[in-house]
Amino acid sequence: ESLSVKTNTKNYNVFIGKQLRFRVNDFIKQNYSSIFIITDSNVELLYLEDVLRPLEKHHNVNYTIVPAGESSKSIRVYFDLVTQAIESGLDRQGLIIALGGGMIGDLAGFVASTFMRGIDFIQMPTTVLAHDSSVGGKVAINHPEGKNLIGNFHAPQAVIFDVETLHTIPLKELRSGYAEIAKHSLIHTPSFWEEIKKVNIMHAMSDQELKQHLLKGIAVKAAIVEQDERETNIRQYLNFGHTLGHALESELGYGEMTHGEAVAIGMLYAFRVSSYVYNIILPYEELLGWMKKNQFPFRLPAVSVSKIIQRMKKDKKTRNQHIQMVLLKGVGNPTIASVDDRDLADILEKFIQELL
Ligand code: NAD
Ligand code: ZN
Repeated sequence: ESLSVKTNTKNYNVFIGKQLRFRVNDFIKQNYSSIFIITDSNVELLYLEDVLRPLEKHHNVNYTIVPAGESSKSIRVYFDLVTQAIESGLDRQGLIIALGGGMIGDLAGFVASTFMRGIDFIQMPTTVLAHDSSVGGKVAINHPEGKNLIGNFHAPQAVIFDVETLHTIPLKELRSGYAEIAKHSLIHTPSFWEEIKKVNIMHAMSDQELKQHLLKGIAVKAAIVEQDERETNIRQYLNFGHTLGHALESELGYGEMTHGEAVAIGMLYAFRVSSYVYNIILPYEELLGWMKKNQFPFRLPAVSVSKIIQRMKKDKKTRNQHIQMVLLKGVGNPTIASVDDRDLADILEKFIQELL
């Protein structure tokens, strides 16, 4: 199955299905001068051969492997990749393939966006979370001062998502990705949330189920990106749950909790803030129940509420010292509001006490 993404600058397709990793050649232009695959040390062992062998029959293909983990999204690894790309003979008519999770997509995409002022690249996501990161055109590496501070907008030529590769991802990565699917559902419609609410990742999931959830999640993201690629307004809705989520991630230290696990707690908190600001009832207990059923961790950093609020203020979305948060006026009805620090702190205080 496929879905198309149309922005002002580019149109591309997202293909989702079984065994697509063996058929990359069917989805790409045939006149690339050479192909450079970038993957990580975990994905290499599982899927590199599957992608490489069939492609080699038709193209001049080279590859490189970076260590798995967020620390590879660095300026040093970036520079090494550019060096290897040059040495492999990659030129302006070449193609980069990002084979891996969001880390690889961001890193390889950033290489593609800057190599000889930008060349084509293809996203081959291998994690559930990467349904989010592979669509939308944001690519980046990290700076010691913060995540994704060095980046670009560079849409892929296509996204090729083989759902079979998802059966090998660690449980906490599956959870992380499903938190983002839950996010997409909560900002979209009550019916999508009803569907995701039933998901139990602790049981084996079928390719069909995975495919449906990914397609719907990507459709939500694509629709938003099509209207606002550069995040001047509604793309911010995708940050639902991320204000507290990012603060938890950085206070806990990356690696303590996955991104999605932190975002899930952030969504619960955003429910509380929304209920306070708009005086409405949101399905807090439902989301909490879903998180418990799926064994989300409820860890919070051992720092004061005011420290967490300060961290939230460092968010890229902060406007003249006021925290801008994505809130819901109802499931499927996101909005952006600037909320008073005092209120945020009071709500967070109570929220933490109840949660732990
Ligand atoms: P990741 O790419 O680090 O993958 C998580 C782990 O799973 C890694 O150890 C990886 O080696 C392993 N793995 C990947 N695929 C596997 C498979 N099929 N089987 C077994 N193991 C596998 O992390 P992620 O959660 O996919 O992505 C996180 C990154 O995405 C972050 O860097 C984040 O900043 C970025 N991101 C970007 C955007 C965007 O719009 N560009 C959006 C969200 C997140
Ligand atoms: Zn996210």
